[in-house]
Amino acid sequence: MKDKSDIGLVGLAVMGENLILNMESKGFTVTAYNRSYSKVEKFIEGRAKGKNIRGADSIQNLVDSLASPRKVMLMVKAGQVVDDFIEQLIPFLSPGDIIIDGGNTHFPDSNRRTEYLESKGLLYIGTGVSGGEEGALKGPSIMPGGSKDAWPFVKDIFQSISAKVADENGDEVVPCCDWVGDAGAGHFVKMVHNGIEYGDMQLICEAYQLMKVVLGLSTDEIQKVFAHWNTTELDSYLIDITKDIFAYRDENGEPLVESILDTAGQKGTGKWTGVTALDLGIPLTLIADSVFARCISAKKEQRVAASKVVTGPEIQFDGDKAEFIEDLRQAVLAAKIVSYAQGYMLMQEAAQEFDWELNYGGIALMWRGGCIIRSAFLGKIKEAYDNEPDLQNLLLTPYFKETVESSQPGWRKVIVTAVSNGIAVPCLSSALTYFDGFRTARLPANLLQAQRDYFGAHTYERVDKPRGEFFHTNWTGRG
Ligand code: NAP
Repeated sequence: MKDKSDIGLVGLAVMGENLILNMESKGFTVTAYNRSYSKVEKFIEGRAKGKNIRGADSIQNLVDSLASPRKVMLMVKAGQVVDDFIEQLIPFLSPGDIIIDGGNTHFPDSNRRTEYLESKGLLYIGTGVSGGEEGALKGPSIMPGGSKDAWPFVKDIFQSISAKVADENGDEVVPCCDWVGDAGAGHFVKMVHNGIEYGDMQLICEAYQLMKVVLGLSTDEIQKVFAHWNTTELDSYLIDITKDIFAYRDENGEPLVESILDTAGQKGTGKWTGVTALDLGIPLTLIADSVFARCISAKKEQRVAASKVVTGPEIQFDGDKAEFIEDLRQAVLAAKIVSYAQGYMLMQEAAQEFDWELNYGGIALMWRGGCIIRSAFLGKIKEAYDNEPDLQNLLLTPYFKETVESSQPGWRKVIVTAVSNGIAVPCLSSALTYFDGFRTARLPANLLQAQRDYFGAHTYERVDKPRGEFFHTNWTGRG
């Protein structure tokens, strides 16, 4: 074992332990520390035995064991616990040392902590780590932001342990990790990733509901549809696991998925994405609707009661099932494109607001492997931003424009069928509504401005006058 460790890691829960083992397997020596020392002992005697991993029984011993500049990564419960560890570390660190937070931290906290630690002569990295416990062990997607001066010191460790995707020649060599941007940019991008994950999952659920309720397909038939979709442009981790979920039988030989209560949980990152979009004025409709879809699912008792009181249309489908399934595949693909276009709009707005230089193609690459939203599709986004780094909206690039346009007829038929059968498809339909709004040169907001001016003298601009010239009308003629 080297005299000094390359990095220290605080937090021996599932993510921390697996990241340490991943780092060690790539040739790095790691010091492990945890609030409860018993976990350090258990780890060192257990999974870490015989490996280049040392345990520390105090913060001072942890810091003393590290090579300079010292790098301490926190994989602990997000929130106050991170601030508390930062305060405990500061007295033992020297200028230029680096604290890294790899938890699910809300980006404003990383903005604040970067400024605070830089004011103390230290460096800070707030990094998104995606891929769950398996990713942490075998190769997560890593999205670091913070003090840029820290990046050269952690780059080798992070890129070595991250997932890899194939380059143009098909060799698995490109790491799903690159510098994202200043301050909270890494955690911001991880937040948008989680929001997109919410949207992708809800779209798949809406497709399932239509196949089950409107087409009356069996679990096996639905399984085959998802297995097929995974060979198309929808090829992705989430479609892949969905196909496996539909194949899974419980001890009675019944599909387990049908025995699961239909109330979705959430930990809040989708909500953060929606709230941030509202704060920044970005129409992130699909992700917001996916959060609300989880909220309505959680109101199980109210829904059950309402289902006995208010009725909708009878289910009626006399079309061609195979044709509808293909329409549905196109609807999911088109809506997914809208979701990513919206997510990228949010990142672009944040970059302006917080003065971050985000590498949009690089972000798509970081999401290509290791994380929950990994998919073939992200390669197309990378290509789009490589071709046009200042791209305003993904929907305007040749591949995405053509795909959405050719998917449009099927997408519209799916929405009509869902609406006429009374099936809730919030994300498939809100994506179409966004798309129709986005491609409409004149929306009815002229009337809205008139209403605002009528009741609140908020003024309006005119189509026949330069932008920035404001008018007010006395709509009632009264003084
Ligand atoms: P976790 O359950 O979120 O946190 C457990 C760790 O936090 C333990 O080391 C625990 O120490 C420490 N901790 C909790 N409260 C503390 C307190 N008041 N003071 C000091 N230490 C405290 O662990 P995790 O699931 O491995 O996740 C770690 C971070 O990664 C979290 O921010 C999580 O959101 C994020 N993350 C998790 C996943 C995942 O799939 N689990 C994926 C990506 C990111 P003790 O052992 O002493 O209690």
